[in-house]
Amino acid sequence: MIIGRFAPSPTGILHLGNLRTALASWLSAKSKGGRWVIRMEDVDGPRCQREFGEQQLRDLAELGLESDEPVIWQSDRSGAYREALTNLHELNRLYPCHCTRKDLQMLASAPHEEDGLRPYPNRCRHRPWEGLEAALRLHLPEGGVDWLDSALGRQSDDPAALTGDPLLFRRDGLYAYHLAVVVDDGAQGIMEIVRGMDLRSITATQIRLQEALSLPRPAYHHLGLVTAPDGSRLGKRAGAPGLEALHQRGIGTEEIIGWLGWSLGCMEKPEPSTAENLVTRFRWDHSPADFFRIPNTWA
Ligand SMILES: [Zn+2]
Repeated sequence: MIIGRFAPSPTGILHLGNLRTALASWLSAKSKGGRWVIRMEDVDGPRCQREFGEQQLRDLAELGLESDEPVIWQSDRSGAYREALTNLHELNRLYPCHCTRKDLQMLASAPHEEDGLRPYPNRCRHRPWEGLEAALRLHLPEGGVDWLDSALGRQSDDPAALTGDPLLFRRDGLYAYHLAVVVDDGAQGIMEIVRGMDLRSITATQIRLQEALSLPRPAYHHLGLVTAPDGSRLGKRAGAPGLEALHQRGIGTEEIIGWLGWSLGCMEKPEPSTAENLVTRFRWDHSPADFFRIPNTWA
């Protein structure tokens, strides 16, 4: 049986783009008779707030999207992340890193033009082990990673060249996002990951981490993003309405679900619907991967 998931970070309200991803992941699992779970990715302590998470769960419930298992909060899972680090150390895949941001800036390799990112140059790889308290990086193997994305087709990325060895643990005690995601997907038996196109670029690194931990590789589906009416990216600030803002404009829950369902290819035109009514109409092969603009009157 398929297990899918929706894993928001409780750093604000869920906007229409987040809700579309949530509905798509739920429909994908339910249309195959599967289960669906919600996981709160609050590993990045300072930016996350419990109250935002609680509100997100209420908003999802309003759409009819409820977790089939108790919701996991990553802030409760440090024991599992620590165990994974221990395993990786025993496999000789971790090393301590003492580089500061300033050190890395001074190693002036040209930044990638588009995103300003430059890869970590793996300069601490040969440092001796110091225990689980230091900042820790994963030693990546050379070469590219291929995967099949059900929306985008065959994909290939070389995380060693793009980002260098990823940080899995910070000296201040925070576990890295990649580690938490991969460990939890493994522990929860997640077989299908549906998420926004903005997270496509981290897939190869996460696959490398799954391989290192001998975890199965889930199926991936990266969804086109919802944009503002003018086509600009939907930020968490302006022009990214959540349910409450939409209700204030007089737009009801079923109207919102209908629009989301239409944008996922479940209907010819947007009509009010429940999530349940969309299950039998949902097919990935109908669902366009490109961008969707929210209606003018909704922004
Ligand atoms: Zn370093």
